[in-house]
Amino acid sequence: PEGYRSEGRLTLGDIFIAVKTTKRFHQSRMELLLDTWISQASEQTYIFTDEEDGSLKRRMGGHVIFTNCSAEHSHLALSCKMSAEFDAFLASGLSWFCHLDDDNYLNPGALLKLLSSYVETRDVYLGKPSLNRPIWASETLPNNQTKSVRFWFATGGAGFCISRKLARKMVPWASGRNFLSTSELIRLPDDCTVGYIIECKVGGQLIPNALFHSHLENLQLIPTSQLMQQVTLSYGVFENKLNVIELSGPFSPQEDPSRFRSLHCHLYPNTSWCLQAVDW
Ligand code: UDP
Ligand code: MN
Repeated sequence: PEGYRSEGRLTLGDIFIAVKTTKRFHQSRMELLLDTWISQASEQTYIFTDEEDGSLKRRMGGHVIFTNCSAEHSHLALSCKMSAEFDAFLASGLSWFCHLDDDNYLNPGALLKLLSSYVETRDVYLGKPSLNRPIWASETLPNNQTKSVRFWFATGGAGFCISRKLARKMVPWASGRNFLSTSELIRLPDDCTVGYIIECKVGGQLIPNALFHSHLENLQLIPTSQLMQQVTLSYGVFENKLNVIELSGPFSPQEDPSRFRSLHCHLYPNTSWCLQAVDW
C-alpha cells in the first residue's frame, strides 16, 4: 500500500548510483573512486562516459555505459549524459536514483541511512541547493515568447537523489530525447534542468540536505569528527588553493591530495592498502 515499503527495509540493492565522467578523467578521477567507495557499492554503481576504455571496462564490466554524448563541457553534452543516466535508472526498476560527479566520494552507509528515512513511494528530491535562493530562468514558450520561471535545484557536483515515484512523473520531460529539449527550453545545465522539471513541471520540491557537499563550498569547514556521517564529499581547486576535507592521515597530502584514500581508511580500516599505510 501507498506509504509502506512492501518488502521491509531499504538496502543498498534498491539504489541506482550513476557517476558521470569523461575520457579525460578516467585515470585521474575514476581510478581513485574505483579503489575507494565504488569498491563498496560496485553492484549498484553505473559509470556514464563518452569513450570506450578497456581498463575501465575490465574493472566495472557491464557497469560502464558509453553514451555517445560528445566529450564537451557544453550544456547539451552534459544533458545528454544526464538523460542516459535517467533512462538507465528507469529501466533498472530500482527504488532510488542517485547522481554523482566523478569528483565525489559517496558514503554508501550514510546514503542508505538517509534514504531509509524517506519513503520511495513518495515524491522525494534530495540534495544540496546550489544557491541560497531559487534561480530565475527564462523559459521559451511554443509561440517563441518567453516566461520567467523560478525554482530550486540541487547542485549536480554535490550529488542528489530522486525517488522512483517522482522519477516516473518526470518521464514526459526527462526520458529519452525529452531531457535535451527541456534543457534547451531554459538553456541551463543538466542539474538546473532536473530542478526545473521537478519544481516547475511536476510540482515537486527540493528537500535541502546538509549531508551533500560539492567543492564549491569550503570543505575545510566540515568538522573532522563529522566527516564519516556525510553522504557525499568532494575535492577541487578554489581560488587557486586545493579545497579538500580536513583529515590528517593515514596518507599524506602528497600521497593522497583529494584525501579520499584517507577517508576511505577511516570508514573501512580493514581495506588491504589501509593496513599497509604507516602513520595512523
Ligand atoms: N564532465 C563531462 N564532460 C566534460 C567535462 C566534465 O562529463 O567535458 C563531467 C566530469 O567528469 C564531472 C562533471 O562533469 O563528473 C563536472 O566536471 P568538473 O568537476 O570538471 O567541473 P565543475 O563543474 O565541478 O567545475
Ligand atoms: Mn567538479
